[in-house]
Amino acid sequence: MSDVPQVLLAHHLKALKLPTFLREYDKLSRQCAAEGVDHTRYLLRLSELELLDRERRLIERRIRAARFPAVKSLDSFDFAAIPALNKMLVLELARCEYIERRENVIALGPSGTGKTHVALGLGLSACQRGLSVGFTTAAALVHELLEARDERRLLRLQKQLTAYRLLIIDELGYVPLSPTGAELLFEVMSQRYERGSVLVTSNLPFDEWTSVFGSERLTGALLDRLTHHVHVLEMNGESYRLKASRRRRHSSSADGLEPS
Ligand code: ADP
Ligand code: MG
Repeated sequence: MSDVPQVLLAHHLKALKLPTFLREYDKLSRQCAAEGVDHTRYLLRLSELELLDRERRLIERRIRAARFPAVKSLDSFDFAAIPALNKMLVLELARCEYIERRENVIALGPSGTGKTHVALGLGLSACQRGLSVGFTTAAALVHELLEARDERRLLRLQKQLTAYRLLIIDELGYVPLSPTGAELLFEVMSQRYERGSVLVTSNLPFDEWTSVFGSERLTGALLDRLTHHVHVLEMNGESYRLKASRRRRHSSSADGLEPS
């Protein structure tokens, strides 16, 4: 009969959604008894554990919801490999204050210079601060928008896309968009304007964006909104992949492994 209170407590803690309380209360109570810690401090410790766990769970949820193609952090980014990139600006952006100000970020540069890596790193920073993030590529987003329109659920998708605190649109410029696709993408940017941040990566300089959107008028209107409050990351440099494979070749030929 003596385990009735435990059963009830477990039930109540579940109902109150306090899983860490439930997991830790027994062990911690023994610890606190041994240390002579009073009830108030015992509860304080327990609630601190719950808060920490809750924060960790929120971050994990944010990361899952962002649908990153890979989880990469700026800690693994070698800034020395790309001197053109303003490291101080990237580190400042990692603090996510631009998201509070609803400003945008555009990373420009040729393929392989780390644009996606930086976008993923900044996305991860935002998740770690509990902010909601969505990651997609321009092609996938347009595809999704067209599909939603055909299935008469465009409004719902648009609402979902405006709700993110940070929307990352990777690889704008690799594929030219259909006129409808361009218009739908424009609408997304318009709806987010001054409501939430957008991070765009592109291999094309601004003056070539018309080739993606087709219409000069639409491109102008889009750039107008996107660049009103913007931080531009210039990422001109050599492809990191090419450089790495060249380094590998060099070292293996130095080892005499590669036939000359
Ligand atoms: P982009 O999006 O500009 O084409 P990516 O971000 O996909 O380039 O980079 C290509 C690969 O090289 C990725 O695996 C990325 O993690 C890595 N990479 C690129 N630049 C760096 C860097 N400066 N430090 C560490 N890894 C890098
Ligand atoms: Mg990329």
